[in-house]
This record gives sequence, structure tokens and C-alpha cells, in this order.
Amino acid sequence: MDKVLSLKEIEKNIKVCEKCRLCKTAKNPVPGEGNPNSELVFIGEAPGETEDLTGRPFVGRAGRLLETMLTKIGYKREDVWIGNIIKHRPPQNRDPLPDEILACQPYLSEQLRIMSPKLIVTLGRFALSYFYNDGKISRDKGSLIATAKFNVFPVYHPAAALRSPQMAKALEEDFLKIPGVLLNLPVPKNVKEGKIFITSNRNLTKGNKESVDINLPDGQQGLF
Ligand code: URA
Repeated sequence: MDKVLSLKEIEKNIKVCEKCRLCKTAKNPVPGEGNPNSELVFIGEAPGETEDLTGRPFVGRAGRLLETMLTKIGYKREDVWIGNIIKHRPPQNRDPLPDEILACQPYLSEQLRIMSPKLIVTLGRFALSYFYNDGKISRDKGSLIATAKFNVFPVYHPAAALRSPQMAKALEEDFLKIPGVLLNLPVPKNVKEGKIFITSNRNLTKGNKESVDINLPDGQQGLF
């Protein structure tokens, strides 16, 4: 089956999903959208009010900032794929709960398996922890994290950047690194099970790497 059809099948399942409480309060599921063949995928936290009303990811104020950032690196939103770790809006935009993240996990996991992007840009702390349990957004933003399955590049959430000029500056600086990161991705054989290599982009050209041992079973580093 081709990518588009496979993703449509997942969307059908998301539309009838009742695996957690969020389907009871949300108006529409937000499965994610964009170019399934993109080398770049952006993953946020959960739909907000406008996303809930439209069924589309990042279409409110944070979405407009995301689009501005994409323009700065030469992309339009339809060039890339954009989604969330949670497919239904949490009431009053509260933080997603651990059981909700876990219940929703198979959808994004399957979407990513099908698309197999070169680089996943995580937006904010929840999306970072989803891929890297020990992630800390203030420390890891703007650094490449190569997990056993994916290359992950965490940045601040655009909604946080709307509240803080410092975060807005950091978000833009990190976005501007993305084209260079894409060009310098580590080759898969460098990614060993159970190890995460955090590469500081400042040192990317010198190939400097700091390796970190983690203690999850089966070489797993996050929830995917
Ligand atoms: N914030 C998110 O994390 N995702 C959206 O889709 C919109 C806002």
C-alpha cells in the first residue's frame, strides 16, 4: 500500500478512537497533515482550540509562528509533515496526562514508521520526552539527538516563544540550524542500541559527539 493510503487508514482509526477520555471533550481529532514524503517532520504536543475546531494541526497563533519559522528556512507548511503526539485536544489546553500519551502513542509511531523522515523536529518539552525520556528542553534544544530509530532535533514550542522574547530568539536560532543538521546527519551505523549521541550543532562540522548511556529496556529511548 502506498504511503498516502496507509496514512489514511490510520486517520480512519484516529477518527473513531475512544482509547482515552479526550475523545469525549474534543470536537475533532487532529491526525496530522502535510507531505508524507518530506525528509522533515514537525511534532508538537496536542491540538489547541483552533486545531480542535478545524481538525488541522498548528493553525492558530502558534501555527502562524511555525509557518514564519519554516519560511525562514525555505519551506512552506505543505512541504513538510506536521503532527502531534496527542490527537485530541485536552480540555482547556491542559497538559496531556501520561496515560493519554501512552494511549495515543501507536498512532504517531505508525505514522512515523510509514513516513520514515530523515529528521524529526520536536516542538516543546512533551514532544522531546516522547522520543527521549531523559530529554530536557532547556538543555537539549538545538542539539541533534540520534535515537535507535530517529534523528530528533528539539526546539522550543512556538506557543512558548509567543510568550517569551528570549524563547522566540532561541527558536529562530535553532530553526536556522535545521538545513545544516539535515546535511550532516549521522550515518545509521553510528547509532548503537541503548546509546544516544547528542551532537552539539556548534561542533557539528568537527564531528564532536557526546555519548550518553541510558537505562531503558531493549535499547528503547522513548515512547515510540
Ligand atoms: N500546539 C500544539 O502542540 N499542537 C498544535 O497542533 C497546536 C498548538
